[in-house]
Amino acid sequence: MAKPANGTTTIASPPAAEFASGWTYAPAPESVKVQIKPRYTHFINGVWTRATGETFPTLNPATEQTLCEISQATGGDVDKAVAAAGAAQPKWAALAPGERAKYLFRLARRIQERARELSVLETMDSGKPIKESRDVDIPLVAAHFFYHAGWADKLAYAFPGRTPRPVGVCGQIIPWNFPLLMAAWKLAPALACGNCVVLKPAETTPLTALRLAEIIEECDFPPGVVNVITGDGRTGATLASHPGVHKVAFTGSTEVGKKIAAATAGSGKRLTLELGGKSPHIIFEDASLDQAIEGIIAGIYFNQGEVCCAGSRLFVQESILDDVTSRLRRRLSTLRVGDPLDKNTDVGAVNSRAQLDTIRNYLRLGADEGATLHECGTAPLPAKGFWCRPSFFTGVQPSHTIAREEIFGPVLSVLSFRTPDEAVARANNTPYGLAAGVWTDKGGKIFDIARKLKAGVVWCNTYNKFDPASPFGGYKESGFGREGGLHGLRAYVDF
Ligand code: ADP
Repeated sequence: MAKPANGTTTIASPPAAEFASGWTYAPAPESVKVQIKPRYTHFINGVWTRATGETFPTLNPATEQTLCEISQATGGDVDKAVAAAGAAQPKWAALAPGERAKYLFRLARRIQERARELSVLETMDSGKPIKESRDVDIPLVAAHFFYHAGWADKLAYAFPGRTPRPVGVCGQIIPWNFPLLMAAWKLAPALACGNCVVLKPAETTPLTALRLAEIIEECDFPPGVVNVITGDGRTGATLASHPGVHKVAFTGSTEVGKKIAAATAGSGKRLTLELGGKSPHIIFEDASLDQAIEGIIAGIYFNQGEVCCAGSRLFVQESILDDVTSRLRRRLSTLRVGDPLDKNTDVGAVNSRAQLDTIRNYLRLGADEGATLHECGTAPLPAKGFWCRPSFFTGVQPSHTIAREEIFGPVLSVLSFRTPDEAVARANNTPYGLAAGVWTDKGGKIFDIARKLKAGVVWCNTYNKFDPASPFGGYKESGFGREGGLHGLRAYVDF
């Protein structure tokens, strides 16, 4: 136990070697080199705009080096992009559905062919470990386009007895935690249903969306079908309230989601929001504990906790609380924090300094409110970059800020329960309702608990598993609307 300067109790885990075999790994950096231009402009109506106006840098959060300059879209740029999408849309919708499908299949194949390059670029711009971008994000991106390419000529079967029509121009605003995957979640169903799109990636992670625009150009999509504009929240706000946009799809914070809901209210625009979460895991004493620990670790630490459905509240049946806590501690001490481009890295860099400051504030607050912080790993972190050690709190009360607010960092709150009813009541005691995890050996208990949890997705004896055919979305302050599967298509058609 160490007493840090602020007087809170911090328990640093023993180094990994004490628990594990004592192996050390040689560095295994990803060797693919990607080309990044010094400056990117907007992709509007099938061409890259001229480089004029305000720019801002996008950084590699692991090194703090500027990767390149990004253009801040003005109101005029948003107008041009929306006009291009509006002009292209009737022609795109009039294409034979099988022809639209061919474009999407081509795009999906090209993403697979360039998967390595996209993974490296994603990791450089976001800080997430290459293991995650290479094995999870980019394969899911391709899968999402393949899946929706399949729907393009089968919409009549998706909505039997009805005649689905495209909604029109879609303004799509996405966050920085799964940059290319969120672009795919937004673009693929919109395009399959005959809509045209103006996409705005997050200001800290625009590079893979811009690379996707290059691939779309390479796949010879008709001009204006997909437009990608970059900029900060000002560009997002202009796009969301633009009169030429018929549908807004947003993934990001609840705070911004509320602003967009207010800006679009009464405008007749369709809206889907995928917002924050404070997702619970419930572990019963009959669960396979090693399996549960792996799911919990993967559900919050492998992406630095930068996952809207991160399982950030852990409810443990009281009889196994000590056992689960010590297993968690032990497994955390083996996680490798460091260079995101190293194939051995489990936990990469936090996406931005602002986000790191937010996480640190919560760490301070948790300790100040009386919880005990277990910060794992004692090896020095790189001098440059935005790093946060994976950690968890014990002694957490439901009233503590860390148990109520979304931290969006590798920080877990451990709480306990005695009865299944208490577990459900505590898990549901949140303004959010995005996801939940249930860990038990008993099938009947799974169905009983899953039915009672107010969450869009309930994973049982697993966590953070995604499939393009499976709808994802939230309740309450986690938003509304679904993405993926048949339910996700519904947001992009009118009857
Ligand atoms: P996070 O908290 O995950 O960073 P934000 O909600 O701040 O998420 O940002 C998600 C996306 O929303 C980004 O692309 C950002 O530029 C955009 N954005 C921020 N503010 C606004 C706004 N007022 N209106 C529309 N989009 C916005």
